[in-house]
Amino acid sequence: MPDLQRVVQEIAEEMRARPDRGDVATYIPELAGADPASFGIAVVGADGEVAAAGDCDLPFSIQSVSKVFTLTLALGKVGDRLWRRVGREPSGSPFNSIVQLEAEQGIPRNPFINAGAIAVTDIILSGHQPREALGEIVRFMQFLADDASIFIDEAVAASEQRTGFRNRALANYMKSFGVLENPVDHTLGVYFHHCAIAMSCRQLAMAGRFLAHNGRNPESGLSVVSPERARRINAVMLTCGHYDGSGEFAYRVGLPGKSGVGGGILAIAPGRASIAVWSPGLDASGNSHLGRLALEALTQRLGWSVFGG
Ligand code: GLN
Repeated sequence: MPDLQRVVQEIAEEMRARPDRGDVATYIPELAGADPASFGIAVVGADGEVAAAGDCDLPFSIQSVSKVFTLTLALGKVGDRLWRRVGREPSGSPFNSIVQLEAEQGIPRNPFINAGAIAVTDIILSGHQPREALGEIVRFMQFLADDASIFIDEAVAASEQRTGFRNRALANYMKSFGVLENPVDHTLGVYFHHCAIAMSCRQLAMAGRFLAHNGRNPESGLSVVSPERARRINAVMLTCGHYDGSGEFAYRVGLPGKSGVGGGILAIAPGRASIAVWSPGLDASGNSHLGRLALEALTQRLGWSVFGG
């Protein structure tokens, strides 16, 4: 196999040289200032070795990548009862779409579209104060990444609190069907804040290790979730992790992945590696343009697609 650090370095240089970068998200005003020229990548292998390049240590807003971790926490709390309140089918619709909720009695299609992630956050919140639920989520990220410096970017959270009218509509609509248990403002407050967690590619790739290794941290041997649960979270990432771009991502990259509008993507090469890429320019589905191209180049060069070849 080619030297991993060399491959990662080459890909970072290729991505930085490209003129096409996509457009930075502006609907959350605080994200609009991100530099479209930023590009970072980090790959953590089974032996704990990290290959990283570019802006791999710069924290960015992980946004919807946080939904992988809130799903993991909520499954830990209520187990498979979670699937009574959230589906697990690809939506084929944009991340913030409301259309399917009416036909499906307020049950979101999957845990990664906004409606589904808000329902998952509501499950974590039940029985807690918002501050406690948020603390649990941040501590979980710190534990997984083995890094206590991970923090919430309060300016990003406040920016979305002020402008998140669509998410407010989704939450109110689900509440009208009884899908949310908690006051809508509390659930949304926790949701906006966990989306505003800031992490670097290196930290994010570290946090994803358990998904690449049957639910275990390969270095400490500690079990985070059962092998079956890790496999299933990966399956939902593959089918739903990129919204209406999930088919294209599977076709081109061939790995379970979860994107966020901050331009981050966490991708899992089962048995091999946890990978994080970041570039804030997005494609039409709100997924990182260069992030996806970088992952496509990586899986092609290393033969890491779960579909072979
Ligand atoms: N916080 C963002 C939102 O709710 C997350 C969306 C995303 O990353 N795709 O709109």
